[in-house]
Amino acid sequence: MFGYRTFRGQQESVINRIVSGGNALVLMPTGGGKSLCYQIPAIARDGVGIIISPLIALMQDQVAALTEAGVRAAFVNSSLERHVASRVEDDMVAGRYDLVYVAPERLATDSFVKRLDDTRLALFAIDEAHCVSQWGHDFRPEYRKLDLLHQRYPNVPRIALTATADAPTRGEILTHLALSDSDVFVAGFDRPNLRYEVVPKANGRQQLFRFIRSRHEGESGIVYCMSRKKVEQTTEVLIGEGVPALPYHAGLDKSVRQSHQRRFKDEPGIVIVATIAFGMGIDKPDVRFVAHLDLPKSLEAYYQETGRAGRDGLPSDAWMTYGYGDAVFIRQMVERSDAPAERKRLEQLKLNSLLGYCESAECRRAILLRYFGEEHAGTCGNCDTCTNPVESFDGTTQARKALSNVYRTGQRFGAAYLADILVGASDPRIERNGHARISTFGIGDEFDRNGWMSVYRQLVAAALLLVEPEHGGLSLSDRAAPLLKGDDTFRLRRDPTPVKGKSQPRTGSTVDTVLSSSADQKLFEALRQKRLELAKSQRVPPYVIFHDRTLLEMARVRPRSLSALADITGVGATKLDKYGDTFLELLKDE
Ligand code: ADP
Ligand code: ZN
Repeated sequence: MFGYRTFRGQQESVINRIVSGGNALVLMPTGGGKSLCYQIPAIARDGVGIIISPLIALMQDQVAALTEAGVRAAFVNSSLERHVASRVEDDMVAGRYDLVYVAPERLATDSFVKRLDDTRLALFAIDEAHCVSQWGHDFRPEYRKLDLLHQRYPNVPRIALTATADAPTRGEILTHLALSDSDVFVAGFDRPNLRYEVVPKANGRQQLFRFIRSRHEGESGIVYCMSRKKVEQTTEVLIGEGVPALPYHAGLDKSVRQSHQRRFKDEPGIVIVATIAFGMGIDKPDVRFVAHLDLPKSLEAYYQETGRAGRDGLPSDAWMTYGYGDAVFIRQMVERSDAPAERKRLEQLKLNSLLGYCESAECRRAILLRYFGEEHAGTCGNCDTCTNPVESFDGTTQARKALSNVYRTGQRFGAAYLADILVGASDPRIERNGHARISTFGIGDEFDRNGWMSVYRQLVAAALLLVEPEHGGLSLSDRAAPLLKGDDTFRLRRDPTPVKGKSQPRTGSTVDTVLSSSADQKLFEALRQKRLELAKSQRVPPYVIFHDRTLLEMARVRPRSLSALADITGVGATKLDKYGDTFLELLKDE
């Protein structure tokens, strides 16, 4: 049905467990292949599989994709008119479906439960199971009512799935869905096809544009910014440079947001510029990059947001700009927070991990995975610090110069001004304040102004300097004293110089890296064009018909018969029937 040759990771064991009537909690990263874990048992077992999912937009796409593959699936949620919903429920009771997707708030209603009582049930799948966690960021009260599943239907297998795996969340899921430790299946959280990169921020938007132009021309991506205003400005810059970009944030009309989300799914090469509101409920498999112009809220958030890239397993980028202002912003947030002390300490730890990720000279993947309690050898070969090792050196002398400069100027100025003093800039403000005569004036000739900004950023990130919440003035923290006294050392990283101008090397789009010959690329384009036509006429997103991955394999392998075509990953029996001849025509032309 699905056209896959092998199972991935834990899929087979999970499927066996559920098919034979057991329960499971499946922890797998985004793109790991969770859906198959309940879809196959729902088809294989007698009766209807009930899939509880909080994401209405997603249900519709999943049902469309299943229908394409020849699976009998439907959804019931508030987007359906009453009579349509009750017809779907009738068909469910009559056993005319293998899978029915339902929103949690509907599942718990008396009327729906009555219909369930009359239905032969294959299983319950609880998607996004972390929504049950009261302490998590996606808590949904309706999820708490799901204890009715094991109380009312103790003999129907339950499978809970999530990509959020920290221990407290896991515990809550087990308790509330009455699952046991032996039901847990954990997959590694590594996403090997994602390339992680943090670049020193110079002029963020131009850097972003050059990144897209050189590595992802014509491909879909998501850009995250902190504020609505920045979303709008960034969209404008990209459009001005010829990139088809669309804004997405809570200040836009719902209809505008929906239409932008639709276009992102249906049209090739759209870049969405968004606040974090965007992304939940989208399982577009061919998002080729996720770019952050501002820091995410935490490393968990970063992992989730970047996880939206490359679900299909093809090479994709997780790219972020990071500069002095970002470090200052994070420190100010901690200062400003009026949370109770214990909570504030926790916030601080989280933010430290985030800054640590940005500043580190270590493998980014190793840092990210360690944060989730997973060990990694640390030479992934697919992150910026692995491919361009960051030079670090004993910067004790420089750190001391920068700190005593803060001290001598009265602990109230920002880094730009302080850097100017160190390089001995002629500036009327420095003259006026009498800072041209202090001992630190002009003692920093080993770096230019940017170099010193980088030193200050690293001192702020390491919390040797505190940031005044209102005006951003820097002052010494307790941790600065030992360094100034000569009892401590400090290592500095040498930031790579930002690439200037438009001459950044083009590493090419993902297609260029996967298909080496231009004849293959041409064929891929033709296949993609055909797919787009079919998608438009059926009003479904192109990836519902075939994934890029499938088309790329077709272009490389060039099957010339229906049976050879059936061997391509992602070509199941129904799709072979429906589209085989159409695509063979193109393949035979070559
Ligand atoms: P998740 O829900 O864990 O984020 P999905 O279930 O959406 O992941 O699967 C991610 C992608 O991998 C989908 O495009 C899916 O079709 C594909 N996939 C899943 N299992 C396999 C498999 N065994 N072989 C090939 N592709 C697979
Ligand atoms: Zn690495």
